[in-house]
Amino acid sequence: MSEVVDPATGEVVGFVPATSVGEVDAAIARADAAFRHWRGVAPGERARVLRRFAAVVDAHLEELARLEVRNSGHTISNARWEAGNVRDVLDYYAGAPERLTGRQIPVPGGLDVTFHEPLGVVGVIVPWNFPMPIAAWGFAPALAAGNTVVLKPAELTPLTALRLAELAREAGVPDDVFTVLPGAGSVVGERFVTHPAVRKVCFTGSTRVGTRIMAGCAAQVKRLTLELGGKSANLVFADADLERAAATAPYAVFDNAGQDCCARSRILVQRPVYDRFLELLEPAVRALRVEDPARDTAEMGPLISAAQRDRVAGYVDGAKVAFTGSRPDGPGFWHAPTVLLADSTADRHWREEIFGPVVSVLPFDDEADAIRLANDTEYGLSGSVWTRDVGRAVRVARAVEAGNLSVNSHSSVRYWTPFGGMKRSGLGRELGPDALHAFTDVKNVFIATEE
Ligand code: NAP
Ligand code: MG
Repeated sequence: MSEVVDPATGEVVGFVPATSVGEVDAAIARADAAFRHWRGVAPGERARVLRRFAAVVDAHLEELARLEVRNSGHTISNARWEAGNVRDVLDYYAGAPERLTGRQIPVPGGLDVTFHEPLGVVGVIVPWNFPMPIAAWGFAPALAAGNTVVLKPAELTPLTALRLAELAREAGVPDDVFTVLPGAGSVVGERFVTHPAVRKVCFTGSTRVGTRIMAGCAAQVKRLTLELGGKSANLVFADADLERAAATAPYAVFDNAGQDCCARSRILVQRPVYDRFLELLEPAVRALRVEDPARDTAEMGPLISAAQRDRVAGYVDGAKVAFTGSRPDGPGFWHAPTVLLADSTADRHWREEIFGPVVSVLPFDDEADAIRLANDTEYGLSGSVWTRDVGRAVRVARAVEAGNLSVNSHSSVRYWTPFGGMKRSGLGRELGPDALHAFTDVKNVFIATEE
């Protein structure tokens, strides 16, 4: 049994069993057997099951959101969005089974057609920062394409995934088609990598663990999607709408207490407006409502654990603090939103992913300098460009080596557009119209027509 803790209070809110290797193997064997049936379910019927799953999630949105607030310390408004995202992702991929079409390719002497065949059992490994959406980005397209799924939530945040598995059954998803297996990464997660019946692993988490998983999957040429860390840049040019850029920058990094792989944790400001930008940023950071995440007004909650809070605090120690926001007193794993001034790109807080409410600011000279600094990182997940010059917006968005860019906005995630990282931020793309193909293999069939 492992303890589940409310990060806002530090109180234990429940216990969850840790699945053993033997139990994982048994669950994978059942999922493999269920695959034989699920892949043969008529496309329209598979679509109906997923639509019912979406409807049942929708009927339990508030319950799921409240559960996430208690287990993960997410603000209630974020948690409602997250539960709604699970519904939307299910609805979106419920439209896929009847549209998973292959091609007919002209060949002499016969008919050539392609099929997108499901892979088998897909193992989804989920981190603690967005337990519901990241689970759904794996299981919804995997199920739609005809695979069965075993899913390991993070040890710290298993409650909503376990509830989603119950809701799936309630919606009529057949037994063993979608199984949630709580437990340790080194036990359950590792077994997804080593078990030959698991044909694909979807991993979201740290670059360190992702690198290890990629090496493990290589041994069986196992399919793999990786969504890893980030150190994304928010580039503010002198011609930008500075008021809007400064008012929105805190949300782009302090949302989910900075525990967001897309956090714009490096703000680069063109030198002539650097001082003015900081003047505008300060009141926006101080005004951020850091409070009990169950309150409707909360804009930021606690960090996930005491260990994560201490790790984050370690980056602030000895750094040049420009200003900070507030944090409640008392129990829970709180850290105030903090703005650091970087002396150079060698600063540890400028280079490493902090995964907490800390942002570093650095001035730049011109467009080429901005692009060079933005790309001076091993990561490449997201980024923002603030400018009123359309040509510059396009040039810079094309030049930044990251999978998800936004111009005069900080949006990264829509369930119907592709999401994922370049460089060490990941491999493959989730969401959007093409993600389904990552859960299939193409088969080519030639049928001779000659007499
Ligand atoms: P993590 O330590 O990499 O863990 C992620 C998941 O992998 C957890 O479920 C974990 O289980 C499991 N795991 C750990 N070791 C494993 C192993 N040897 N084999 C298989 N599975 C294993 O990351 P985290 O601490 O949860 O999350 C923070 C990091 O994730 C940050 O670096 C962040 O950027 C990254 N992240 C990236 C994205 C993205 O979309 N790109 C999204 C979210 C997070 P346990 O629960 O037992 O540790
Ligand atoms: Mg970990």
